[in-house]
Amino acid sequence: MNNEIKKKYTFQSEVKQLLHLMIHSLYSNKEIFLRELISNASDAIEKLRFQIISHPKQLINQESISKIQITINKNEKTLSIYDNGIGMTYNETINNLGTIAQSGTKSFLKKINQNNKEKNDLIGKFGVGFYSSFIIAKKVSVYTKHAQESSDLGILWESEGKGDYTIQKIKLKEYGTKVVLYIKDTEEEFLESWNIKNIVKKYSDHISIPVEIENYDEKNKVISWEKINQAQAIWTKNKKDISKKSYQEFYKYITHDTKNPLLWSHNKVEGNQEYTSLLYIPKKATWDMWHRENKHGLKLYVKHVYIMDDAVQFLPNYLRFVKGIIDSQDLPLNISREILQDNKITQSLRKSLTRRILTILNNLSETDDIKYQKFWNTFGLVLKEGLAEDSINQKQISNLLRFTSLRTKKQEQTLSLKKYLKDMLKEQEKIYFITADSYNSALNSPHLEIFQNKNIDVLLLSDRVDEWMMNYLPEYQGKKFQSVSKSDLSLEKLIKKEKIGTDKNEQKSNIFIEKIKNILGNRVKDVRVTHRLINTPVMVLTDSNDMSTQMAKLFSAAGQPVPEIKYLLEINLTHPLIEKIKKIDNIETLSMWIEMLFEQAIFAEKGTLENPHTFINRINKLFLS
Ligand code: ADP
Ligand code: MG
Repeated sequence: MNNEIKKKYTFQSEVKQLLHLMIHSLYSNKEIFLRELISNASDAIEKLRFQIISHPKQLINQESISKIQITINKNEKTLSIYDNGIGMTYNETINNLGTIAQSGTKSFLKKINQNNKEKNDLIGKFGVGFYSSFIIAKKVSVYTKHAQESSDLGILWESEGKGDYTIQKIKLKEYGTKVVLYIKDTEEEFLESWNIKNIVKKYSDHISIPVEIENYDEKNKVISWEKINQAQAIWTKNKKDISKKSYQEFYKYITHDTKNPLLWSHNKVEGNQEYTSLLYIPKKATWDMWHRENKHGLKLYVKHVYIMDDAVQFLPNYLRFVKGIIDSQDLPLNISREILQDNKITQSLRKSLTRRILTILNNLSETDDIKYQKFWNTFGLVLKEGLAEDSINQKQISNLLRFTSLRTKKQEQTLSLKKYLKDMLKEQEKIYFITADSYNSALNSPHLEIFQNKNIDVLLLSDRVDEWMMNYLPEYQGKKFQSVSKSDLSLEKLIKKEKIGTDKNEQKSNIFIEKIKNILGNRVKDVRVTHRLINTPVMVLTDSNDMSTQMAKLFSAAGQPVPEIKYLLEINLTHPLIEKIKKIDNIETLSMWIEMLFEQAIFAEKGTLENPHTFINRINKLFLS
């Protein structure tokens, strides 16, 4: 039978961009192409195994032994990688090798174009996969035949990695996939057997499928196959037989990260539930940690058989930075993503894995400050989501939180709640905090004057999630949290001790306060004398049950309706400006001053004014008076 005519296709534009990037950004770590191809071969074999187990009635070809075989042909300058995995159909070949399925690709390419320095790192993390062949090959031929194909026809896909590729049907005996790389003249080191063996050992030792290389005995003219890797899944081995390096390599293999992980935890659990988990915490966040399409989750195995990548059901969203595998003895092999969701076993595994991660983080925080700080600086923001998401583990999560505060005097978040409690004043009943748009605006808020003055520490919160987070964190070890921008009796008790002034003075003050109330009318909830201020004449607070300013801002930024906040205006009677104003008899002049001070206080609280122009006019008038 004749081979079918060759058809030419052009690559999807994202593929073209990726190919261009790879070939022209002088990839510093060229050898990873082999890791990618072996990983594809191993995936294909695992997919076939899974297919056979989950669809026992289908007619599927399978040889008894799965294998990945590497052949070098020095005369033709080719390096080939063959696997007897699932193979590809005609359409699958077009989709898999001519397009990129991940929806995040566009944003990835955008990011990579803005970020030249980290290009190599990013490419690696994205998992360039198959296309990395073109770093070292001037042409790639893929022979593939799907395991379910009953005819003697397979597919030949060929490309030089430029704009297009060709496909044709050809006669193929065996199912599976063979990738033939025509090595560039400048990359001939990849035609050296010893070199290839070293690379396979380095990256693919832990792959559970044997990787063999062809040895040709010139003298006797015989071919033999030499197994290069250990071919045992790393997590099935005994902990004591696994080197640190193997753990690290396995991490890099599953994540495409170029850096070693921060830490890992390998556990075999027997009893009610039988499973093995190998979980890693990376050093750096993936580029898409905050993207909606972010791929996360664990690699799922059931009874050592690969089931799926990115199984998100085993960890809560706030632990989405955790990478690794879970191998369950109890789940059924034919499990689908939908079934996973409501499965009792999944839920109980999720509970245990969550607890495990929180425990190893807690141990780290207690034993290695420097490492823990690195973790917090990278992933603290994600972990904070846990307070809302995971109320059961709230206590453990709050132990892991780190803050910046008045006393820490630096922006880096290093203070734990435990330490805050330890250093609290004896008579202090609550944990004080302030939320603001930025570290500096929190630090310079007039609300903090009295705290500075009395040496009471205040947590300074300026991450976007903070205001929201604090709603879910009512207390820590029996101590309530209190926003300093809200009115609060505990603070009044703390600071009112040394009350100044005589009764007569108080009478006078009361008259003054009444005047202010008359001027501002129902624009304020109340006006009162403060003991909180030192260098600022006035400030506003929200009432203890009202929505905070920061929360109102979040609502309005999200386009939600915001109820009008009525503030409490507090007056610092000892401030020279107030002393001056107190003496003004002319009610019109006094009004102008009060209006101006009220706006000042609102400005300081909100960072914006509804009508800046009126404010400026008023100040200018006052300057001239
Ligand atoms: P990824 O492995 O992350 O999906 P790749 O670029 O490495 O991305 O591969 C793209 C797709 O091509 C794979 O998802 C798979 O469907 C297909 N593929 C690649 N190599 C093989 C192979 N050896 N056997 C079967 N399918 C393969
Ligand atoms: Mg791949």
